[in-house]
Amino acid sequence: MSEHGKTPVTVLGLGAMGTALVEALLAAGHPVTAWNRTASRAEGVAAKGATVAPTVAEALAANEIVIACLLDYDSVHEVLDPVAAGLAGRQLINLTNGTPGQAREMGAWAEELGAEYLDGGIMAVPPMIGTPASFIFYSGSGTVFGRARTALDTFGGVNYLGVDPGLAPLYDLALLSGMYGNFIGVIQAYTLVGSAGVKASELTPLLRGWMEAMLSSFLDRAAEQIDSGDYGTDVVSNIAMQAAAFPNLAKAAAEQGVSAELLAPLQSLMDRRVAAGHGAEDLVGVIEILKK
Ligand code: NDP
Repeated sequence: MSEHGKTPVTVLGLGAMGTALVEALLAAGHPVTAWNRTASRAEGVAAKGATVAPTVAEALAANEIVIACLLDYDSVHEVLDPVAAGLAGRQLINLTNGTPGQAREMGAWAEELGAEYLDGGIMAVPPMIGTPASFIFYSGSGTVFGRARTALDTFGGVNYLGVDPGLAPLYDLALLSGMYGNFIGVIQAYTLVGSAGVKASELTPLLRGWMEAMLSSFLDRAAEQIDSGDYGTDVVSNIAMQAAAFPNLAKAAAEQGVSAELLAPLQSLMDRRVAAGHGAEDLVGVIEILKK
């Protein structure tokens, strides 16, 4: 803690996200030492009060808590490997996007060097950092999470998942999987109506209402079925019916002269599930194919 009760922090990486993190820390009064490979990118945060370290080694030496927010895990290793000895006694918080395996590898590597390791998955874009709309998954050292907590709170909401460093990226990528599946579906919907000259904005209110209604009921029902392993449906839409109607999505795209390539993998999953004798069950049963 500094004399004002604020946690001094080193931040490695001043891309769009690293800069937003530094600005949130500075706005809350935390002393920040920042480093970036391209030095000119540090000018903005320097003007706002950050101390700019000319080398990674000096940035590491400045504070016990070190946040890395670089492009990917390879770039984190590229930056830290040459100064690895300087990690001893440090609390390394890695907010770089990666996989559970990469996080576990980096956690073990950091520990061998005498550092404590906390991984993080940022669920926000840079302008959201520091607002209530932002939150970050953390996992790894609970001690680091506790010590850095006042600094981490400046970024938005926090969700600590446990000691396995792989959990934060696992949850992060699970949420992104849900997001991308939805986003791509929305793009397909706009493409289809666009083929008839309909502006995307004309479809928006209809699509929003439809997706909000369908998704919110699906989330709870799917979770219940997955947790129980019972994919039986007494409602209206078994997978055999859906697999029979689903080709119309691709046929309509072909008729309208637009691509149906996004739909083929979904059709394949449904068809395989029906062929395996589960036609009377709910769509959610495709999880049994995905699990393998
Ligand atoms: P940017 O592309 O804006 O910045 C990348 C940063 O990584 C820069 O500081 C860059 O340095 C540095 N870098 C890249 N390669 C190397 C290297 N080999 N050695 C040293 N430094 C390197 O990305 P963001 O800041 O937006 O993203 C940072 C991390 O945050 C990523 O892992 C991203 O996935 C994650 N994230 C980003 C979100 C976003 O919306 N932006 C959302 C959630 C997570 P230099 O300036 O010298 O090029």
